[in-house]
Amino acid sequence: MLHRTLAFIAAPLLLAGCTTTLPPESTGTASKQRADTLGLVSAADPRAAQAGATMLRNGGSATDAAIATMLALTVVEPQSSGIGGGGFYVRGEPDGTVTTIDGRETAPAQAGPDWFLDAGGNPVPFPDAVLSGLSIGVPGNLRLAAQAHEKYGKLPWSELFQPAIALARDGFSITERFHQYLGLGKGRADKTEFGKALFYDDAGEPLPVGTTIRNPQLAETLQRIAERGPDTFYDGPHGEELASAIAAYTPGDDVMAAADLTSYEAKWRDPVCGEYRSYRICGMGPPSSGATTVYAILKQLEHFDLTALGPDSPVSWHLFAESQRLAYADREIYLGDSDYVQVPVKGLTDPDYLAARGSLISASHSLQHVEAGKPAGVALNWADGEEPAENGTSHFVAVDREGNIVSYTSTVEGPFGSGLTFGGFYLNNELTDFSLVPEKDGHEVANRVEGGKRPRSSMAPTVVYDAQGRLVIAVGAAGGGTIPVQVAKALIGMLDWGLSAQDAIALPGLYSPGDTVAIEPGSALVAMKPQLEALGHKVIERQMPFKANAAQWVDGRWVGAADPRSEGSSVSE
Ligand code: GLU
Repeated sequence: MLHRTLAFIAAPLLLAGCTTTLPPESTGTASKQRADTLGLVSAADPRAAQAGATMLRNGGSATDAAIATMLALTVVEPQSSGIGGGGFYVRGEPDGTVTTIDGRETAPAQAGPDWFLDAGGNPVPFPDAVLSGLSIGVPGNLRLAAQAHEKYGKLPWSELFQPAIALARDGFSITERFHQYLGLGKGRADKTEFGKALFYDDAGEPLPVGTTIRNPQLAETLQRIAERGPDTFYDGPHGEELASAIAAYTPGDDVMAAADLTSYEAKWRDPVCGEYRSYRICGMGPPSSGATTVYAILKQLEHFDLTALGPDSPVSWHLFAESQRLAYADREIYLGDSDYVQVPVKGLTDPDYLAARGSLISASHSLQHVEAGKPAGVALNWADGEEPAENGTSHFVAVDREGNIVSYTSTVEGPFGSGLTFGGFYLNNELTDFSLVPEKDGHEVANRVEGGKRPRSSMAPTVVYDAQGRLVIAVGAAGGGTIPVQVAKALIGMLDWGLSAQDAIALPGLYSPGDTVAIEPGSALVAMKPQLEALGHKVIERQMPFKANAAQWVDGRWVGAADPRSEGSSVSE
């Protein structure tokens, strides 16, 4: 089940040395495509975009730039992502080759279905679960970065860390958005003495906008990993101390052990690709629900002439809402970690299946009732779990001069993750992306907790090729369950409505994963409320955590785009 309330965030804030296997690849039509610039980086924070752009200027690849951006975000946007969390990396090459790496956090080996249940078998209150070691999964970003760098990096590993080290050591200033997060993050960002002292004044209030923050502890952590490599994070004293800190955060509970850190692997995964009209859309498969959900929303609408309807038609938004309802019904039941449960990816993305699902959609009225379909490959009768939504994520895109693109979404799950700081960074609360309950009505939940398993994600880093086989778009977003919807909306905006990436991202938000349609207050959709209601929808206005970033191939060059609702920006080199 996808809860409609955000557990932590209040409305105003919403405005705002492991095994290496050969990567599976999806290869499309070869084409010649090369940027006439050094490339670009688009990120949710200009300083992080700049960190990535510096790598491009120094001769780095898109992968180098993306890693430097991820590291810089650890410093300047700690509420959203960092080395204490995980992420998904999707890389597109101009010849059509797509590779993906799964750096999702894992549950400790000893975790089991009762991980979030109390002695009476009831789920522990969500905020208690978040603010404890129970929610902390083994961070994946550094091993993801190491694997990507080993194969696609051009610059030395240590060089990627320099901008982030400088930001942490020399200081960065508190932005408006970060200040808001610090205000709403009381009780979480200030949970440790370290977090409190770093970001709050003596009265416990967030330091003012413009205050320079220096984080020498994080600078030291980054410096050590830069010099000694990623394993120094997972193995030896650092791993042991990290495990002890988590144990001390949650006395009496079984939590992550040093061995869980040592054994962590980032995994090369098959990209999930499908045709939408004349385009090939590729993204991140399980444990993310991102690609299958984005693709279903689009493909189920393929028989409608969205171009003729356009963005000003309430019918367009009604159709978008209906397709979301169908896609999320499937997502809630079938998506989980495919290393543990059979996820029918092929069935869920089968064009005939999606055409049949799409034929349920009527342009003249909303469906009374929506339930999951029966895609091919379904082995069991799963139940819909309990996964409260949060938002603490960042998406960034890097393009290099060879025209390779990295579309990378990085997260600590909720803002400031679990609240636990260690070595100058926040540890994630990703494990609360699992269903807190392992079964419902006698049926198991696909996304239940299991030892070593990865929680289901919504993150949807995406790349798109056009009919000529040219790589034309990279896009992704932050915002919990809204992520696939933001990505699908941006793609409809660009592919069906001919908008620029910037205008497509700026289109109003409409989120309809269940029987209620949430529309973005103050947007053009508010005026369409009566028509949407006349089509049978229950419509509410609600601020939602939208924050997307993209790059688009326009007239022979790459153009970056960042969500106007965010502080994001892009830097071209
Ligand atoms: N942890 C969430 C996921 O993987 C993302 C949270 C967010 O975007 O804010 O889907």
